[in-house]
Amino acid sequence: MGYPVASKLALPLDSYKKPSWKFKQKTFYYGVDWGVHMGEDVNAPAWTKVKCIGRGKVVYSALHVGTKKKRNWGNIIIIAHKNPRTKKTFFSLYGHLQKPRVKKGDKVELGEVIGLVGKKNTPQNGWWPEHLHFGIYIGPWKGKVLPGYWKKGQKRTRISHWKAPSKFIASYARYICSIYKNRLTSFAKPCFLAAFGNRAHSRY
Ligand SMILES: [Zn+2]
Repeated sequence: MGYPVASKLALPLDSYKKPSWKFKQKTFYYGVDWGVHMGEDVNAPAWTKVKCIGRGKVVYSALHVGTKKKRNWGNIIIIAHKNPRTKKTFFSLYGHLQKPRVKKGDKVELGEVIGLVGKKNTPQNGWWPEHLHFGIYIGPWKGKVLPGYWKKGQKRTRISHWKAPSKFIASYARYICSIYKNRLTSFAKPCFLAAFGNRAHSRY
């Protein structure tokens, strides 16, 4: 598929706090068993800018309102990216946004603001507290919205189709750097240091 190549990734919030609901955590909220969480929930005040994690193309942007009793995504955006090393497509998913700033078909860049964190208990954020749900999906794309949770017996998704988001971004930097580290191009050194830290400094 001809999705844009993401040579570099970054987290979607400037202040990416420790997730309140972690990846693969079993989630109970107000007596509802949601299942296994397929992303990270990061608390952030309403109107916080949500940025695209890397160059890509918007494949889904829609409002899933839900109700106070049956919470949902609110505004959700899904962006497709191509990994330059494996040539495989992966997707970043951003849920509970106040206002999407991009629409299906738009090309987006790393760091581009794609929406804002939704205000709590509104249709826009799907009736949740103020947070971003951020997911990384590596499964097949069928053009339909993806779930935020997995439950035994349901066929909407598989656990193996999801990656731990912040770990995925950290390791992406490392293996993309590994393509260049032996070539000693002008950006190899800063890139390598960013991935491995000062312990690598003595090698240069
Ligand atoms: Zn979530």
